[in-house]
Amino acid sequence: MTVTSYALALGSNRRGRRGSPAQTLAAAAKALGVERLSRVRATGAVGPAGRGFANAAAILRSDLSPPELLEALKALERDFGRRPGRRWGPRILDLDIILWSEGSWAEPGLVVPHPEYRRRLFVLEPLAEIAPGWRDPLTGLTVRQLLARLRKGRPVDPGPART
Ligand code: ADP
Ligand code: MG
Repeated sequence: MTVTSYALALGSNRRGRRGSPAQTLAAAAKALGVERLSRVRATGAVGPAGRGFANAAAILRSDLSPPELLEALKALERDFGRRPGRRWGPRILDLDIILWSEGSWAEPGLVVPHPEYRRRLFVLEPLAEIAPGWRDPLTGLTVRQLLARLRKGRPVDPGPART
């Protein structure tokens, strides 16, 4: 069986049963058994409750398919206390699949590479720490190059997602 690699984005903007957002991400990375974890970027006092948020990226080796992994990630989000159905509200744990070593995947409810990540500093900055040379299959650019483009205010848009 082939062991494939995934780049994941981890986010939290609310305390949960594992503690602060930063502690939540560290606990999630441990529970997943990730191979590499970026530094955790924590930003305080966002929103009226002032809970702050944290973001990180991780590399996971897994023989699960993308939909199997997504199910496992959603189960872990639930285990950490996230309630479903509140997309933009406070969230204890958000785990997104950003890249997959085998290329792209698209089905209803799951698109890899993640359609938004080329425009998100909070994904590309941590990811560039741990996987700067990983090449985006849709644009052919590395994570380092995507980050440089975004920092110049010229994010790369691959166009509509292909299925
Ligand atoms: P966000 O888009 O802010 O991460 P959610 O975590 O609530 O919001 O995700 C909404 C839905 O996005 C999930 O139920 C999942 O089916 C879908 N989705 C599509 N592509 C991906 C991906 N690459 N990684 C994670 N979720 C994805
Ligand atoms: Mg998500």
